Amino acid sequence: MRQSLTGDIHLNTFPAAPSLTAFFGGTFDPIHYGHLQPVTALAKLVGLTQVVLMPNNVPPHRQQPGASARQRLHMAELAVAGNALFTVDDRELQRQTPSYTIETLEALRAEKGHDAPLGFIIGQDSLLTLHHWQRWQDLLSVCHLLVCARPGYRSTLETPELQRWLDNHLTHSPDDLHQQPHGRIFLADTPLVTISATEIRQRRRQGLDCHDLLPPAVIHYIDEHDLYR
Ligand code: ATP
Repeated sequence: MRQSLTGDIHLNTFPAAPSLTAFFGGTFDPIHYGHLQPVTALAKLVGLTQVVLMPNNVPPHRQQPGASARQRLHMAELAVAGNALFTVDDRELQRQTPSYTIETLEALRAEKGHDAPLGFIIGQDSLLTLHHWQRWQDLLSVCHLLVCARPGYRSTLETPELQRWLDNHLTHSPDDLHQQPHGRIFLADTPLVTISATEIRQRRRQGLDCHDLLPPAVIHYIDEHDLYR
């Protein structure tokens, strides 16, 4: 804002610099504190004000989730209801055919324009298998990779070539993630949470309590729909 000689107040007309948005894809079968707690900590560490949860479609030839796409979406929505950091985007579930992450990210990049900083959040286990993803080497020309720590997974990549690729793109500076639109990898020192969706589904089958593993509203939904029995 600036004040003219006559004392009138004028609002600057410069467009605001686009802020860093991060998308967080997953099967979320179901969503749990192992997703929410590290990502909330990551948001604080790098100054993220918006995280978009994106439940994914599971290709028919892969093992199908225990909950339907619609149920996984509902659980994600319930998990973050009233939490201003998170929104949920169902674009991958709207598609008739499963899409590769790179295709979704390219569509997001096209929507946001060349200069908007864009992040994609993954856990350490996903980083270790990233080289099996479709067109994985194109990911950094579209987004940054923001990696949450996950206990029980090695910290280095499988081969020296992959590790070199990681080292070449690594940044320790959150500023880089805001100032550059894509191309950096940030390994976030987030709290280690041992929870997995597999464990939750197993505990449900065994009739065991899960109250400290996922939000109460999600547990209620799982009970109501008799999921993972
Ligand atoms: P499952 O046990 O069914 O394989 P999951 O618990 O690993 O599921 P996903 O929905 O497959 O959950 O994971 C989505 C993303 O969240 C992935 O990038 C994964 O690495 C990350 N993630 C899941 N659980 C954790 C956790 N406890 N800590 C850090 N990252 C996690």
